[in-house]
Formats: sequence, structure tokens, C-alpha cells
Amino acid sequence: MGAIIVADVGGTQMRVAAIPQDSIEPIKHKRAPTKSPDGTSFDRFTALINSVWPDETVEAISVAAPGPLDPETGAILSAPNIPEWINFPLGERLAERFRVPVFIGNDANLALLGEWRYGAGQGHHDLIYITISTGIGGGVISGDQLLLGHRGLATELGHVTVLPGGPLCPCGQRGHLEAISSGPAIARFVNEKLAEGQPSILKPDAELSAREVAKAARQGDALAKAAFTRAGEYLGQALADFLHIFNPSIVIFGGGVSRSGSLIFDPLKEALYKQVMDPDYVKDLVLTTAKLGDNAGLIGAQVQAELRLSSL
Ligand SMILES: [Zn+2]
Repeated sequence: MGAIIVADVGGTQMRVAAIPQDSIEPIKHKRAPTKSPDGTSFDRFTALINSVWPDETVEAISVAAPGPLDPETGAILSAPNIPEWINFPLGERLAERFRVPVFIGNDANLALLGEWRYGAGQGHHDLIYITISTGIGGGVISGDQLLLGHRGLATELGHVTVLPGGPLCPCGQRGHLEAISSGPAIARFVNEKLAEGQPSILKPDAELSAREVAKAARQGDALAKAAFTRAGEYLGQALADFLHIFNPSIVIFGGGVSRSGSLIFDPLKEALYKQVMDPDYVKDLVLTTAKLGDNAGLIGAQVQAELRLSSL
């Protein structure tokens, strides 16, 4: 039995681990900043892989990467936080360098695979995963199959239009869910209302985070509460649509904003229950938060490797 090298490349840091093929316990685990003046992101990534390379035979390298990517060819189409990785053939370059099979998957899809096999989604066959942090990502498993679509670009659940003509989304379109309910969108809403003169214990601050807004909301601040209510209502509206399309038995929420509890989930549920076309969609539905935390990407990469090695 060999080992798998798993990696999770995020906007701020990249993590790499060597894991025995039948396990999710790493042998060696290292991390490094994604952006640094020393060399390219790819060079630092390959150095990190070398530093965890185990004595065992390596069966595959499996990578969770951000942004639209082609899981078939392993090409990153665009990575919002890694400007060097636009139309970057990451899979090919890694395969040339390390001479083992390389599998690349979207980080939200892989987090879903991890939660399905080892976390909150165990035992379910139809799942939706929504991660709410700097952006909003999504993944769907239907009948035990991860939905990828024609080019592997399916289930961008944060980029559905919930408010036509609404705030600008980082993807360049307007009114997407991510532009209203992500962490930065919650903070931006507060800053806009402060500029209009709404009273609050918060002060205008370009660096304001959703976590600080949540803290103010828990202290009873009306504007901070309203920001989470708005984000939750739009999430609930979008989720009603997702239930109509995918009819899952469980929805798993990941990402930092999902840790704000009832601030976001109370308005989310209220909007959801109001907008489903039939109560059967929510009758046995499990709404829960992710269990694997920061390791979801690495564990999901391990599941991706298992699935893809077994189909080679
Ligand atoms: Zn968008």
C-alpha cells in the first residue's frame, strides 16, 4: 500500500501532506504562504511537495485548488488570488515534475467529498455543500455522484443571481449571492449604511470583517444584526431554488461565516421555509455545519484520489 500526496491551495496559504492510501492521518504535513516574493507560487508548491515526499511509493498527487478549473485536464482556468495561475496547466506541470498521476479538483467540490465520506454527510446520497467565507462556493452530490458538468464547471452556487442589478460580484457580474452574503459583502453592507448615517457601535472601516460584525450583532447592534439578516434571507432564497433543482437530504454549510450561528441561520430558515414550493422539500432535510474544519480540503483530496485511482 502506497501513499498519496494531498494538497490544498488557498488564497493565503498552501498546505501539503503525505497520507497512507487507506487512511486520513497524515505522515507529514507542511504549509507555506501562497504569495511570497521568493520564486513563483508553482516553485514554492513543488518545494513543499518535495518536503513531505515519503519513503513509501507515491501513488498519486491530489490537489484541491480554488476557482474555475478543468478536473479532466488539471488546468486552472483562473485563480482569483493567484494571478500567475490563469490558464495554468497545473496537473500537467506536476505530472511532468513528479511522474505520478495527478488529480486536480475544485476546493468546494473536494470539501464536499471529504464531508460526505468522513464528516457531516456520512450515509447521505444526495448532498449540497455551501461554503461561505471570502467567497461563496458550492458542491452537489446527486445519487452518490459528484456533479461536475460538461467542463467540470458545474455547481457554482455562489454565482446565482438573487438581486438583478444588485452589488458587483468579484466574478464581474451583478447581484450574485456571493455579492450579498459572503463575509466581505456583509462588511461592505455595514460600511455603506454607516456612510448613510445609520447609528451603530461599529465605525466605518475598509478592513471591517464579518467576524467583527457578528460580535457587534451579539452585543445587540441593530445594523450589524440587519447585515446578517439580509445575508441569511438571500441565502435562504437561493437555497429554496437549490432544493427545487437538486432535492438533497442534507445541506452542509462550511466557511467562517457559517460559524455565526443563529445570526445567519434563523433568517435563512425563515426565507427558505417561506419560499419552497412544497413542504416535502424541507420535511426530512438536515441543515448542518461542516465537521472537518480546515482539513476538509486535504481530506477531500484524499477521497478524490481514492475515487480516481479506482477508476483508472
Ligand atoms: Zn459572481
